[in-house]
Amino acid sequence: MNLSKSKYCNFIQCPKRLWLSYYKPQEAERSANAAQRLETGTEVGDLARGLFGPFVDVTTVREDGSLDHAAMLKKTQEALQNGAETICEAAFSFDGCYCQVDLLHRVGGGYEIYEVKSANDFKEINRHDVAFQSYVLEKCGVPVVGVYLVCLNRDYRRKGDWEIAFGKLFKRTKELSAGLIERKCVEENAARAKALLQDTNEPRTTFCKSCAACDFFAYCRRGAPDPSVLDLANCPEKWEYMNRGILTMQELLNSGEPLNACVKQQIEHACFERAAEIDKEKIKDFLSTLWYPLGFLDFETMQSALPPFDGAHTYQQIPFQYSFHLIGKEGEKAGHFEFLAEAEGDPRRALAESLVRDIPQDACVIAYNMKFERAVLSELAELFPDLAPSLLVIRENVRDIMIPFQRRYYYNRAMQGSYSLKYVSPALFPNEEEADYHNLEGVHNGSEAMDIFPRMKTMSEEERAEAKKQLLIYCGHDTWNTVKIWQELVRVSK
Ligand code: SF4
Repeated sequence: MNLSKSKYCNFIQCPKRLWLSYYKPQEAERSANAAQRLETGTEVGDLARGLFGPFVDVTTVREDGSLDHAAMLKKTQEALQNGAETICEAAFSFDGCYCQVDLLHRVGGGYEIYEVKSANDFKEINRHDVAFQSYVLEKCGVPVVGVYLVCLNRDYRRKGDWEIAFGKLFKRTKELSAGLIERKCVEENAARAKALLQDTNEPRTTFCKSCAACDFFAYCRRGAPDPSVLDLANCPEKWEYMNRGILTMQELLNSGEPLNACVKQQIEHACFERAAEIDKEKIKDFLSTLWYPLGFLDFETMQSALPPFDGAHTYQQIPFQYSFHLIGKEGEKAGHFEFLAEAEGDPRRALAESLVRDIPQDACVIAYNMKFERAVLSELAELFPDLAPSLLVIRENVRDIMIPFQRRYYYNRAMQGSYSLKYVSPALFPNEEEADYHNLEGVHNGSEAMDIFPRMKTMSEEERAEAKKQLLIYCGHDTWNTVKIWQELVRVSK
């Protein structure tokens, strides 16, 4: 029953998580995003191996696909004795604690530990991760003279091949040894974690911030209402309430507990006690900021940790599709324009040219949550200076139709406290099947669109045609819904 570094970190975040991962692993529900994150982590980790030039990789996999820890420990010792400068996945074990170091780099006087993350930023838990490694190595007699976290550099712009270096594709923290959790604490935590693994009694649930990203969340809150109907869902202190057995706004109000600012604000907005609210004057004011020609725009984007094209940065949202509805003047029917890139190559130039052709420079462009559309337009303008003047005019003309719902000028209870388009649309049009995104075939949301587009490259002709059809329906549906929402606002304002 070895305590690995990931088990140790699980324990630090939540002891119950460690216990469940050992005694009830079948209860874990890994989201598609988690599987994707794992794949990304492996890809980034593989690239980081080249940070110090040639390296020795001690990874040893058994026939069944599992890691052969004993062989890795042995190979690590051999590599150390042979004076290897950089060892990947260097394995060490001490008193039931086991760790693999992403990169162990030899320098004058000892070794540096490099822990590689595929994110753009470091998290507090990463410090525990490297503190555990540093503890195990020192106990094994390896002199650790430096500890670093490595992650992807947000400021890097791809030009040709990825540049595998610090200050280019990667960045690292300052040397961390002095700021690490003390060895004594690591030793105590490890002892408590090992004792917990010996105990067959399930620990009680203590909800905390890390629950949101935990594979056992569904298990821990079994029997409670679906999180999407929790009126407390947006409250930063919801974990505290949940630990006291309070799961809904109604239970909170009945409990006599003091209300925090977030809850008070929700009540102020009457999102719970009143069934519906329409502030005609404020809606009228909002509508007066729009003009004809009136357009409705939505982008679909893909995102990858490693910049896939020149000029792109890590985790950049790369647009590959848009839908645009246009009403030329009052009373006119909406026309529809759309663009979907070919699966191969960089989609951005063709998309930007098409956008400039389709969207009149004098059009008011409505988006639902305009921050996203504006950010995409800014990045396109930066990338294509010749198209920048037109793209920036379009950007300046973007208006956000989310505002009346976000500010509760228009609220009804079916929105369940949310102002996301996926809730607002079916709440406004409860009798229209097509307003509910669940009724779409194939692609139901941006994440699914983001997932399906890059996979089109490897699809058969038939599958690709089907994927294209689904993407076009989904994106067109998004802007058409926005048209209908605008029409509804006009109707209620009269
Ligand atoms: S859901 Fe929360 S309480 Fe349950 S195991 Fe995960 S982190 Fe712990």
